[in-house]
Amino acid sequence: MRVTDADVGDAARLAVLLREPAQWLRDGRLVALPTETVYGLGANALDETAVRSIFAAKQRPAFNPLIVHVADPSWLGRVVADVPPLARRLIDAFWPGPLTLVLPRRPEVPDVVTGGLDTVGVRMPAHPVALALLRAADVPVAAPSANPFTRISPTTAQHVLDGLGGRVFAVVDAGPCAVGIESTVVAVEADPRGGERVVLLREGGTTREQLQAVVGEVFVADHADEVGDAARRSPGRVERHYAPSVPLRSIARRADGALQVPNELERPFALLCRGDAGGVTDAAHVDVLPADPAGFARELYAALHRLDRAGVAVALVEQLPDDAAWAAVRDRLRRAGLR
Ligand code: AMP
Ligand code: MG
Repeated sequence: MRVTDADVGDAARLAVLLREPAQWLRDGRLVALPTETVYGLGANALDETAVRSIFAAKQRPAFNPLIVHVADPSWLGRVVADVPPLARRLIDAFWPGPLTLVLPRRPEVPDVVTGGLDTVGVRMPAHPVALALLRAADVPVAAPSANPFTRISPTTAQHVLDGLGGRVFAVVDAGPCAVGIESTVVAVEADPRGGERVVLLREGGTTREQLQAVVGEVFVADHADEVGDAARRSPGRVERHYAPSVPLRSIARRADGALQVPNELERPFALLCRGDAGGVTDAAHVDVLPADPAGFARELYAALHRLDRAGVAVALVEQLPDDAAWAAVRDRLRRAGLR
């Protein structure tokens, strides 16, 4: 089902259009929905059977918890047991938006949503269609990215149909996603030094700098540091993910702007780069993405989907800047198998 800008501009019309998909969600069906990050595979988060069908459709391992989407911060009480003051500050600053908070869950949230953890990941998406659908359904919606497990996340409705067509009851198509990569995931938890602290579990659409500007210090859950084992704390963070079937290989750009194509290279090859093609003329397929991190992130997954279909032996990917603004994109490319 298609939702146009004109529909979005007319709240009454949008509500009518979304009445059926909202009912399908309440009935326990799987409805893929647009969000500002990526398309989600949505089901009523409080309906255990419906949530199980998400895992079946994606073939996602059961220990990997889902993010629950709410239409408004006032819905938090439906899924979380407590909202600490530091979490409240994050919500005030970043919702609606690409920030997921991991908070103590209510007993009504089925184990299948949380992977058996005593916490639940929750966020309010910044997408008018997602919000209108949530409001119409009037149930919190568990929604991981609408792609088969370990494949590239979808940023268009067509990506969803390509990956999960036949396994989803409906797709609400509202055009390409504006952020293009998944949400940042943080936990708010007791600080051993007293008070609370914010722990970054996954880089994403909200940058570490943005978080720091609001809460000061942000801890990073990394391998075996004092914050704990990242695999246990944020399941799903460790596997290979977001992967095209083409091998990805990193290449540097010289100071004069030229991209360094290696001498020994399988052909045909594709090039994924930033700003311009760096003088490379013999690639079978070229994707030049915006030079800024937000623009690059927005178009990254669509470019990876194209690489998958380019019929090349290898894809060269331009090395990205080291700074924190690029952390989420670097993370996704690393997990797509870039080396
Ligand atoms: P996605 O794959 O985009 O649906 O995001 C799900 C990811 O959010 C999981 O793989 C975890 O990394 C994280 N997450 C969700 N809920 C929790 C939770 N209760 N505790 C820790 N991490 C969570
Ligand atoms: Mg995913």
